[in-house]
Amino acid sequence: MKYGEFDSDALMFITQRPEILFERGEGSWLFDSTGKAYLDFIQGWAVNCLGHSPVEIRDALVAQSAKLINPSPAFFNGPMIELAGMLTAHSTLDRVFFANSGAEANEGAIKLARKWGRLKRNGAWQIITFDHSFHGRTLATMSASGKPGWDTLYAPQVPGFPKAELNDLASVETLICPETAAVMLEPVQGEGGVIPADPAFLKGLRELTEKHGILLIVDEVQSGMGRTGRLFAHQHAGIEPDIMTLGKGIGGGVPLAALMATEPVSCFEPGDQGGTYNGNPLISAVGVAVMRRLTSAGFMEAVVARGDYLSRRLNELSQAHSLGGERGVGLLRALVLDRDRGPDLVKAALHAAPTGLLLNAPRPNLLRFMPSLTVSEAEIDQMIEMLDGLLKA
Ligand SMILES: *Cc1c(COP(=O)(O)O)cnc(C)c1O
Repeated sequence: MKYGEFDSDALMFITQRPEILFERGEGSWLFDSTGKAYLDFIQGWAVNCLGHSPVEIRDALVAQSAKLINPSPAFFNGPMIELAGMLTAHSTLDRVFFANSGAEANEGAIKLARKWGRLKRNGAWQIITFDHSFHGRTLATMSASGKPGWDTLYAPQVPGFPKAELNDLASVETLICPETAAVMLEPVQGEGGVIPADPAFLKGLRELTEKHGILLIVDEVQSGMGRTGRLFAHQHAGIEPDIMTLGKGIGGGVPLAALMATEPVSCFEPGDQGGTYNGNPLISAVGVAVMRRLTSAGFMEAVVARGDYLSRRLNELSQAHSLGGERGVGLLRALVLDRDRGPDLVKAALHAAPTGLLLNAPRPNLLRFMPSLTVSEAEIDQMIEMLDGLLKA
């Protein structure tokens, strides 16, 4: 499409984008270049945890950019220290390495587990992951992912990621061998279709990994930062992982991610790990602003309440249209459709007039909802009303 004198064909083609140009965002709303409003239940893929352009992120960017943007990762800066301190204070992990994307944080987790295996477990290097999991788009994280078709897309894969079945402890135990360094999973599979790991399975996995002396890595890139009504989703199961990765919500829309580990597992030595932009003060200051809001009094209780409300409204919708029910945790939820009409509904919702609605279908028979953590009941009602109309049409 045209933008001034330029054409969108200058962009490498990686996905079919609609002929819409988003110009402005505010809370749960996006506005395109014609002024049309869209109710946003995608929020940049569960990224904008405080909605579009929240005042605390705008203020953090303006204030920090006037002071210091990037002294280089070779030096300390205030926001990186403050954010690391907040993250360790609110979790059972002791050390943080900042990154720019979820994939990069997971890549770091894989490297840390391999290094630990070399030092502490006779050279163990394999990491057991799960069918239908998603860990990112670098070569190693694609290899770790259990997405159908990815095993051959950029073959040969990075070796050492045998796949188990989620919520099936025996399928994990049979894969454990002397080469195993870790088990890695999403506490709620997001891209796989909002499939929660049972709390009992997570507890069993923690016991199993302890028994065999291997690490447990939780990829909380999508499920973390309040998305499920706890700061981190694994907290629902009361377990303590050895390594955790964060992304998406931690930056509230700007590129920020984190790799966290316990003290005994934090075994990188100088030269092992780094990155030009990692821990820069501009973006770290946004992380501090996001953490302040997420840990403020009453915030998480409100997420739980709105998650329950969204769940109830989706259930009513499912019953009214004889659909397959809903599932999820907190404000990461999915509605199971009666047939493979997810992509059609997504398209119809986008083009609905006068107001559009942004939804996502991670599978053809499924709609996924990942609104701002600050979404209101009135906005949930409006989304349900619009979806009700689309389901009837
Ligand atoms: C989105 C996602 C990633 C990848 O994060 P990027 O920032 O896109 O690299 C990794 N793991 C999970 C669970 C995700 O949802």
